[in-house]
Amino acid sequence: MISVSKKKFRLAGVWLVLAFGGLSAQEKPASKIEPMAVDGRISAALRQVSAERIRANIEKLASFGTRSTISAQDPAAIAAGRGVGAAREWIKAEFGRYSQECGGCLEVKTDSFTEPGAERIPQPIEITNVYAVLKGTDEKNAKRIVLVTGHYDSRNSDILDVKGDAPGANDDASGAAVSLECARVLSKLKFPATIIFLTVAGEEQGLNGSHHFAKTAKELGWNVEAVLNNDIVGGDKSAEQDHSLVRVFSEGLPAAATEQEIKRIRGLGGENDSGSRQLARYIADVSRVYDVGVKPMLVFRLDRYLRGGDHSSFNQQGFAAVRFTEFREDYHHQHQNVRTENGIEYGDLPKFVDFDYVVHVARLNAATLASLASAPAPPANVHLLTKDLENDSTLTWEASPGGRAAEYEVLWRATTSPEWEYVQKVGSVTRATLQLSKDNVIFAVRAVDAQGHRSLPVVPLPER
Ligand SMILES: [Zn+2]
Repeated sequence: MISVSKKKFRLAGVWLVLAFGGLSAQEKPASKIEPMAVDGRISAALRQVSAERIRANIEKLASFGTRSTISAQDPAAIAAGRGVGAAREWIKAEFGRYSQECGGCLEVKTDSFTEPGAERIPQPIEITNVYAVLKGTDEKNAKRIVLVTGHYDSRNSDILDVKGDAPGANDDASGAAVSLECARVLSKLKFPATIIFLTVAGEEQGLNGSHHFAKTAKELGWNVEAVLNNDIVGGDKSAEQDHSLVRVFSEGLPAAATEQEIKRIRGLGGENDSGSRQLARYIADVSRVYDVGVKPMLVFRLDRYLRGGDHSSFNQQGFAAVRFTEFREDYHHQHQNVRTENGIEYGDLPKFVDFDYVVHVARLNAATLASLASAPAPPANVHLLTKDLENDSTLTWEASPGGRAAEYEVLWRATTSPEWEYVQKVGSVTRATLQLSKDNVIFAVRAVDAQGHRSLPVVPLPER
């Protein structure tokens, strides 16, 4: 009871401070944040995500026997339908089919490279990422990219086994199926910004595929605003599974932060405000608008204990990236040879996957991708003026690049709150003063278009 009344008091306190702070008549008072506006096109697209397609794709990927990155990929193995090469060719063809259905709207590409030998790679090997690009239709926004990925390689008990079965239905045919199904469904729509649907290899061998892709994206200067990595999103049907939740992991201190940036983050309490955290919060926002059948459970941690994933490759290059993983993993069904021992079935087989759960996760991904690709770019160079000692807070920013923003909103929350709590609409301006002390809250600014699509929020840098 005490915490409830405190919260009410705080809301009332903010309201009162603002109400008496001399806001002009046009300005709306601050209020608790409401979910973003529904986009009927996005709702309709989400209904197209198909359990049959997801099931067929996961079963097909599992049917290649093994998709170990170091398994066969010569023409004979591809023709025989076994090994990582056969899986790669099938994914390419599948993206190609979706592209035909949308009049060639997808550009299907591969990113191949030779990975030198390493602990988990006995000899140099060619690794190939396969991806499809749905180019943005607005020339001024087409360079902005949102990306979804899953890894199509698999493994069994022995990371060096290139022959034995490694069906990898949950880890990670489920994630690859999310990428594929998002491509099939979203390619029927047009977005101002670009969406990339990626499947990578080499994850189990050492995140090799995602590392190469993210590094290349950085070198080419790609403007990747968000990366959604789906790895183990099969909703394993164990008794303790919670099918209503999917975990969303996000890094705190950015892996790419410089010493100087870390010093600033430490000084200002910015440990909880990486770009990846803003993306995680955005996903939670999306889930309150589109009823996709599963709720994100935000985990403010890079990944599970002693585990890694492809999102970290993107984090290392400075991109905002998060990982989706089912609520509860069953370790009998991951990284295990297919067998029965003492009555326990081991192995990552399609029969343990809950295809409806994967559908829900795919819908949450598609809703997030579509919302971001429809939204204006985030405002640029957001600053909080700190020159004068004062109890007001003045924020400045540059207009959202690309000209799609109709207005801006200042967000804030208590330093102890996980998600944005309050919003002040400030109109089509690039400066706002709030009668609220910057020392007591965390601020951000976002751009909103005429239809209500929201950009990712940007936390200001201090300016003297
Ligand atoms: Zn995995």
